[in-house]
Formats: sequence, C-alpha cells, structure tokens
Amino acid sequence: MGESDPFGAVRELEHDGTTYKMADLTVLEEEGLCELDKLPVSIRILLESVLRNVDGKNITTDDVRNAASWGPDVPDVELPFQPSRVVLQDLTGVPAVVDLAALRSAVDRKDRDPSIVEPEIPCDLVIDHSVQVDYFGDEDAYEKNVELEYERNEERYRSIKWAQQAFENFEVVPPGTGIVHQVNLEHLGRVVHRREEDGDEWLIPDTLVGTDSHTPMIGGIGVVGWGVGGIEAEAAMLGQPITMGLPEVVGVRLEGELPEGATATDLVLHLTEKLRQVGVVDRFVEFYGPGVSELTVADRATISNMAPEQGSTISMFPVDDKTLEYLELTGRDEDHIELVKEYLDAQGLYGEQEPEYTETVDFDLSTVEPSLAGHKKPHARIPMGDLDEHFPNLLEEQGVVQADGAAPVKHDLELGDKVPVTLDDGTEVEIGHGSVLVSAITSCTNTSNPSVMLAAGLLARNAVENGLDVPDYVKTSLAPGSRVVTAYLEESGLMDDLEKLGYSVVGYGCTTCIGNSGPLQDPIEDAIDEHDLWATSVLSGNRNFEARIHPKIAANYLASPPLVVAYGLAGRMDIDLEEEPIGHDDEGEPVFLEDIWPDTEELHDMVHNSVSPEMFEEKYASVYEGDERWEALDAPTGEVYDWDDESTYIREPPFFQDFPLEEPGVEDIANARCLMALGDTVTTDHISPAGPFGEDLPAGQWLKERGVEPHEFNTYGSRRGNHEVMMRGTFANVRIENEMLDGKTGGYAKHLPSGEETTVFEASERYRDDDTPLIVMSGIEFGTGSSRDWAAKGTDLLGIRATIAKSYERIYRDNLLGMGVLPLQFEEGEGWEELGLDGTEVYSIEGLDDGLEMNDELTVVAREAHSASEQTSGDSQEPRDGETTEFDVTAQVSTPAAVEYIENGGVLHKVLRELLTEE
Ligand code: SF4
Repeated sequence: MGESDPFGAVRELEHDGTTYKMADLTVLEEEGLCELDKLPVSIRILLESVLRNVDGKNITTDDVRNAASWGPDVPDVELPFQPSRVVLQDLTGVPAVVDLAALRSAVDRKDRDPSIVEPEIPCDLVIDHSVQVDYFGDEDAYEKNVELEYERNEERYRSIKWAQQAFENFEVVPPGTGIVHQVNLEHLGRVVHRREEDGDEWLIPDTLVGTDSHTPMIGGIGVVGWGVGGIEAEAAMLGQPITMGLPEVVGVRLEGELPEGATATDLVLHLTEKLRQVGVVDRFVEFYGPGVSELTVADRATISNMAPEQGSTISMFPVDDKTLEYLELTGRDEDHIELVKEYLDAQGLYGEQEPEYTETVDFDLSTVEPSLAGHKKPHARIPMGDLDEHFPNLLEEQGVVQADGAAPVKHDLELGDKVPVTLDDGTEVEIGHGSVLVSAITSCTNTSNPSVMLAAGLLARNAVENGLDVPDYVKTSLAPGSRVVTAYLEESGLMDDLEKLGYSVVGYGCTTCIGNSGPLQDPIEDAIDEHDLWATSVLSGNRNFEARIHPKIAANYLASPPLVVAYGLAGRMDIDLEEEPIGHDDEGEPVFLEDIWPDTEELHDMVHNSVSPEMFEEKYASVYEGDERWEALDAPTGEVYDWDDESTYIREPPFFQDFPLEEPGVEDIANARCLMALGDTVTTDHISPAGPFGEDLPAGQWLKERGVEPHEFNTYGSRRGNHEVMMRGTFANVRIENEMLDGKTGGYAKHLPSGEETTVFEASERYRDDDTPLIVMSGIEFGTGSSRDWAAKGTDLLGIRATIAKSYERIYRDNLLGMGVLPLQFEEGEGWEELGLDGTEVYSIEGLDDGLEMNDELTVVAREAHSASEQTSGDSQEPRDGETTEFDVTAQVSTPAAVEYIENGGVLHKVLRELLTEE
C-alpha cells in the first residue's frame, strides 16, 4: 500500500494467530464510488490492485476512481496494474534474463552492489517450449529427446541457470519437469498471496502476467492473469505498473450438465466457436450461473486455457467450494486454503456472483457433443459425426479432388486411393489423403485434466483388449504437462496400454502444441511431395494454424485425448466414427468407437482412485531441482553474468552500456530522416519477424562472419538473446513494404541524401555515422499482432527516436514507450500521404524543449529536400532547402509513468537510474 492510504482502505484480518493487512474494497462502496456486487469479479480484483498500490505517482487516486467507475458501458480510461507475480517460459524468458543480467552488469560497472537489481515480485520461469519429438514410440524416447534438447539449447539454458542462482525472487523449473501453465495451475497459483512488506504480512489476490499467451489458464482457479510482451513483464518484475484500458466484461451464463460421452475438450471447442461468434477480443470473459458448479476445476482450466483462441484477454471462473477442493487435491497447504476462503469472503469475492456485465451470453452444457476443430482454425468446430463429410468437402474446396472424389488434373490421387511407402525399418505401409500422420496427446490445455487423460488411457486399454493397434505410419506421442500425470497413469495401470499403442512419454513440455512435433520419416515426406497428399494430424492442443504442427501436414485437428487415440487407431480423418468401425479385432470382426469408449462410471472411479494429493506433494517437492543434466550444466555463477564475446545466442545488449546517471530528458528532434514510410496494419511480425532468415540478409551475414553456417542460423525467435541478430532483423520481414521505394518489398530503405537503396539496417548505420536521428511513419494499427518486445527494442536500436502513425496497437505503443521511443499520432484524417509527404523530407519535431506533458500536442516541420543525385550544386550531404509542411501530432503518452519512461530513455533505464541514485 502506498504511504498515504488516501481512501483509508487498510484493515486487519486475524487468522490463526497472525494479523494480516489487506486493502478493503468495501470502503469504496462506503465512499459511494461503486456498488461492489455490480462489478465483475475480475474488475474488483483489478480495483484491489489499484487501491492497494496508490502512491500518487505511478498510481493516483483518479486511477482508483476510474477503476471503480466500471459499468457495462465501460468508460474509456487506462489503468495502471501491478500483478502479484510473473511467469515466463523459456523462449520469451531468455531475453528477460538477458536484460536483467545487463542491468546487473551496468550496476557493477558503477561500482555498486549488483544485487540491487532484483525482481520485486516472485517470478517463475518454466523451461518447456524447446523439447522436440525426435524420438517416439518406445520407452527410451523421453531420455533421447531430452538429451537432444540440451544439445540444441545449451547456451540458452546456461543463461537461465545463471539467473536461477543469481536472483532471489526468480525461480526456474528446469527442462523435463512440466508445462508452464500446468505447473502454474497445479502448484504455483495461490489464489491469495501472503506477502511481507515493511514488516507487515499482507494478503492480496494472486494476480499475474506471463510471457505466454495461454497464461489465462490460471483463470480456472479464479486467478486473474494474462499474457504480455517481454518489456511489460520485465517492467512488472521490477515493480512498474502495466497500463491497460479498463476492459469490457462479457458474462457467460452456463446451465445444464455435460451429456454422457462429452468431454471438457468438446466443451471448450464449443465455447471457443461460440465466443468467436460473439466477439470477445480485448474483453474479459467471466463464467457464472448454475452450470459452473457442474464443472470440475480441471474442466474449468481447460476452458480458461483457450482464452486466446476465444479472443478474450482472460476467461475466468469464480472461486468456490470446488476450487478449494482442487487446491486440496493438488496438495496445497490446508492452512493456506482456509486463509483463501477467509480473505475472499472478507472481500465479497467468494462463491457464486451475478454482477452486471457488458454483454451476457447463455450456454447450455447439455448441447455439447463430441467434436474436433480444424482444419486450420481452433474455432472451426466439426461434430465428430460430420468428419466423413467434412474431409471430402475440404479436399474439394481446396481443389485436391473434384466433387465426385476423383483427382483433378494437377493431382494423381483420388480420395480413398493409397500409395505404398516403405518406412525406415522396412515396414510397408499405405497412405493417402486424410491419413493421420501425427497423433499427439499434448498441451497443457488437456494434460492438466485427469479425466480426459485417464479417458485416453481407458480407451487405449479397451483398444488393446479388442486387438486394435495404431498403423505404423502414425507418429504417436504423449507429452504430459507435469510428472503427476505419469504418476496417476502408472497408478491406474493405464500407462502400459498407452505405451502398447505407441503413446509413450516423449517429454514434459509443449512438443506438438508449439509445433515441435519433430520430423516425419523421409519416405513419408517424399510420398506427400510426390502425390500432393493432404495428410492430417490430430492433437489435444489449442492451435492448428497452417504449417504450425508440421510443414508437410495440410490439415490439423484439435480433439480430446481419447479422440486423439481413436483417430490414431483409425489412421485416417475421413471417417465417421459413429457409424464406421474404427478397426477389426483378431477374428476380423469390426470394432466400433462405442465398443472401446470409456465407461463413465469406471472413468469417474479411476479419477477418484488414481489421483491423490500425495502425488502432487511428491512431484512438486523437487520442482526447481531438475535432473542430473541440469545439475551437470556448466553455467556461470555469481551475481554478475560472465558475458561470452564469442556467443552468437547470448550477448550483452547495449541498452545500459555507458549509462549516464543523469536523466537525458527530452528535447526537440532536429533534422531527422524518415527510415521507412509504411502503410496500414504493419504488424509486429513485419517489424520483428520470428522465423528463419537467409545468409543474404544482414542477420545472416553477421552470423556467417562469425563462422555460423546457414543451417545453424536457427530462427530470429531463438536468437532473441542476441541484439546483433535482432537489430539486423528489425523491419526485415520479406513482406514489409517501405513506400519510399517503388513497389519493392522486404527490409530495404533509401539512404538520404545519397538516394542509395540499401537494407534498413545498413541505412540506419549510415545515418548513425552521420548523427542523423530517425523517424518512421505509418498508417493505422501500427504494430498490430502478437506482443513482441523486440519490435520496440529493435526500433530503438536502429536509432529511431519517434514514430508517427495514424493509430497504434496498444501493446506496441506501450513497448515503444518502454524503450524510450516517442510514439506520435497524426491528427484525425491526416497521414503522411494525405499531407503530401513521401518520406524524403527532413523532419523536425518541435515542442519538446520545454519538456513532455501527457498527451502533448507537438508540431512536425517537414522540409522538402532533394537527394544527392538531384542536387545541382553545393555539398551533397546538405539537403537543399525546399517547401515546408507543418502539421500537428499528439504524443501517445497518457500516464505520468509513461512521461518518465520517455524522459529516462525507457522503463528499465528509469528503474536502473532510480536504483543507482538511491542512497
Ligand atoms: S503446451 Fe501449448 S498452450 Fe501450453 S504452454 Fe505449451 S505451447 Fe502454450
């Protein structure tokens, strides 16, 4: 709580001999600022954060009033939000570790104690995104895959292991342990946090941000948490608030019960389809109504997991008796569970709620039927019984077959035709359109849910008993999201049956869900290429975008774990499993899905008898320790990272090198050049691509010069710990279009006044040599797409001081502010084209010499200048004076904290300066 407690909200709560402090929401009602029971639960939780952290600087009393003013017709206000913790996964976590390490190095260079750089709130990094399914189908698969994982990721993992020992508030869950959101659900999530502050014990709601889009899964236990970019996460770690628009909240009223045979996966696919139709992008979703108590907490978490696919920021459930039972089942401390109940009761946050919502949606659980989603959208649901029609229709739509199933001229295979393939071990198989080549029990969406995992095991057992097997061309895998899953599958005796069908454990990580499904056998890939086969995958994950699962697999289907096994057994997707046999027994008799589908009663007993709190207690007791490989990993130690100048993965970024203690402040930007003039909807992927790159591009050239061969380049995404690669990859997407160049696409720019066309990076270097500041101009929705902190970091490192756009995606705008780059906006109806500009002008931004105010109105003077080739006389480096265009822009700086970020050159710079100047 900030010093002043301006609302008199601090009160005490006694529990078991301890006096806790809490920020009491009811005072806001007494003040007449809101009616608490009309506010959605998620809004009350945000409100508590604002109320508790009000300090008059980062968070003001107006922010509290704004949050309390939430109504169905949501006011257009921004909130500074301070979560109680942060979770990270390894892909996005490495850049965060690199930044923290760089901050420590900067402190060390100033002869100060490096340990003053320390996350202010608990941070957990789970290493789960890098394991790939190279080996499968035998009991050694896990060991071999994890071995390869270490070989491929050693450098990155060393930096993470350094962080594990260097920071007190930074824990690491080593590889081979589990998946971030499942570990969060089963172990890290507290629902209510106890926190010590200035000698007082505080109780606060558990809230978090994570550097992964499926962070909202924690909403299954009533915790507010969502995915953010790295800069926001780092700022949150270091105690800075995250700004967000006060969200609209959609209430989904659940009623009825799930029918026999329908799973939580089927339910989430229905809800995802429904909420996509409703439109919940940038909104919160809360579930309420009588149907909520019909769902287990594991089922709720499956639904919350797919918030990004539904489009929402969060999709959360209330905390009720079932939540407390789940906390007990997962081995949480009994005393803590009591405290959760007491605290939430005191805040009016416990149990069923029926507040006001921006919009309400009704959903009847009894309408759920077994379903899949595909072929490339998670919200494109297909009832299982329609698959036999869906697939031929899809092939027809795609021009792969004609209406009668015959092959058109460009293809040689009709639907139903097969081609022979000899596998690496000499086995002869036949595959055709629709063949299932990957069948993966994967993803925290489902592996966190014992009922669907045990259902897969029971189906496998029944299949084995009926003499069924999975065809040899199907790549089968089981990647649990925690060690507990293996424990209960073993306890139930079902692991053997899954293994008999090839579903042995391949890793404890994301695997197929993130696209790490590993290679297919060469003869299979050759057959796909030769016959333009439309092969398929079936997985219990949450995303199935084109080429995500495997570049050679055209159609990908999301389904429950038992259906993943069922389609694996069938070996093809163009089958109606309600009518056609899934296979034949040893006597040649047909076996149908209903013959092997788990009995509801037996499944219920199995869940009850196989899953116990002791399993969770045992498996999570050593969650931060890792295996002998982690132990043996030779990582740097000490408080300051030992940077390796030869490394091509991890390098000290220049952000805090030669760091001045004095705040740089702001001043007019004079005689800037425009590096790029862009159109509308330039995405963060245009600005900072994540995929592979070639040796002809600046990033590739840099690596080649250091002896890295093109086949070892890896992707931009994997090199996010190396600013040299990342800044060379900024604005380097092959599809980006700099309209200063005539129709040329890719990362190119025109250096002025020379007029020479070169790469964006090369041009920026030449401008740096000339001490010329840079700007970029863009159309609407600048920086739309996924949150990617390197889009802003790269912008900064290229020397771009300001951007001017018609409008911004909020996260990119905030990330620019976080890097000290000034985001400016054209006036309504104006843009660089409308103003008659073409980017060749010399730009000055005026109005900053007197300091920067929130939402400042500034003037831009664009002076026509001619390139060297157009100069008729004089010094070719000096542009000839021409006509000027003056226009107004608004600084997209709407909080006092954001003003400080710009004045300091970025949020981390501000934090570092504060740390270094504190006595
Ligand atoms: S398993 Fe899938 S949803 Fe879960 S963290 Fe990994 S990639 Fe994300």
